[in-house]
Amino acid sequence: MAHHSLPSGLHPDTLAQRVAVEPSQYGENSEALYLTSGYLQPSAEVAARRFGGQEEGYTYGRSGNPTVSSFEMRLAAMEGTQAALATASGMSAVMLMLFSLLKSGDHVLYSQSMFGSTIKLIGSEFARFGVESTMVAQTDLAAWKAAMRPNTKLLFAETPTNPLTEVCDIQALADIAHNAGALLAVDNCFATPALQRPMDMGADIVMHSGTKYLDGQGRVMAGALCASEDLITGKCLPVMKNSGMVLSPFNAWVVLKGLETLDIRMRAQSARAHELALWLEQHPAVSRVYYPGLASHPQHALAMRQMSNIGGAVLSFDLKATDAAAARSRAFHVLDSLQVLSLCTNLGDTKSLLTHPASTSHGKLSEDQRQAAGIGQGLIRFAVGLEHVGDMQADLLRGLDTL
Ligand SMILES: *Cc1c(COP(=O)(O)O)cnc(C)c1O
Repeated sequence: MAHHSLPSGLHPDTLAQRVAVEPSQYGENSEALYLTSGYLQPSAEVAARRFGGQEEGYTYGRSGNPTVSSFEMRLAAMEGTQAALATASGMSAVMLMLFSLLKSGDHVLYSQSMFGSTIKLIGSEFARFGVESTMVAQTDLAAWKAAMRPNTKLLFAETPTNPLTEVCDIQALADIAHNAGALLAVDNCFATPALQRPMDMGADIVMHSGTKYLDGQGRVMAGALCASEDLITGKCLPVMKNSGMVLSPFNAWVVLKGLETLDIRMRAQSARAHELALWLEQHPAVSRVYYPGLASHPQHALAMRQMSNIGGAVLSFDLKATDAAAARSRAFHVLDSLQVLSLCTNLGDTKSLLTHPASTSHGKLSEDQRQAAGIGQGLIRFAVGLEHVGDMQADLLRGLDTL
């Protein structure tokens, strides 16, 4: 769709403010919200050309919308990809990618530390349609290599992961994929293009849950795939048009405006997260803090290289306890003592959100599976927002100092 014309060579923070479709005849400075499912066609001849794909122009809400286009163009510019396609949620972006790129008999290789619904979608739902898959350890490159098969078409990783913030080497995974003629997709939810651009490190597809930092204020569900014109227009768009996993224009408008403040939010929230991670490491009730910005993080050097020297805004910490039952009751005590911060299963909000992964996002796993994943009963995930650091510390101490 027509691009608001801009000089070349602009930086990502400028693109985040400026990339959008042309303003309407009214010259609005803030991008318009186009709430329409249909479009007036200037003539039957033009309508025929638009439906036939010989002429650009909107035809129907399932095939495109100017507000959604603005979000797609802007996100693509920020990720450094040729194109993007917006979806109704992060999971519908994963769904669209799998549907568009795979067929029965193909094999997917993915990290065992990925988002729970991603694991279910690939390992259970797509398995019903004959798509094979293997899960491997996030940080074990030899395991990724060893699990490759002649029919491997896609490698899929998330970095950093939820909730333990494990970091994988994007360039190394891209090399493994490309040597075998496969593609690498990266879920860039936690770092966002403000800190990490997987495309610059060899990835072929960047997947987003726009629900998280792209929105940034916990308002709407959204998702997107960013990739080459070939993959987006050639492979994903045709599936999208027929499957209807479209992002609503209103939600697109919210995340479009969210992108304008993404960079400053990521930096400010990450700075608070770093300060809190250092502080939590010193607290006597805490046994371990997981945060890529800490020198104690196992992939600290790699994380700093991939993430613009910034650790991101999500950390997790483990409470000291004698056994699993005690750990669980201690974690519940800390969470139930909060008076300011939110007990809420989401992330990417300017409000700080805390969760107990073992009983919520990872609650369906058996205790053995949870132990294998490193998600103990004393683990608390902390998606750090923009509150005053002193107030956040005081709120945590209500529980930490009364265990
Ligand atoms: C939330 C999330 C998703 C799924 O996104 P939705 O918008 O909730 O569908 C996928 N990956 C990661 C890392 C997430 O945090």
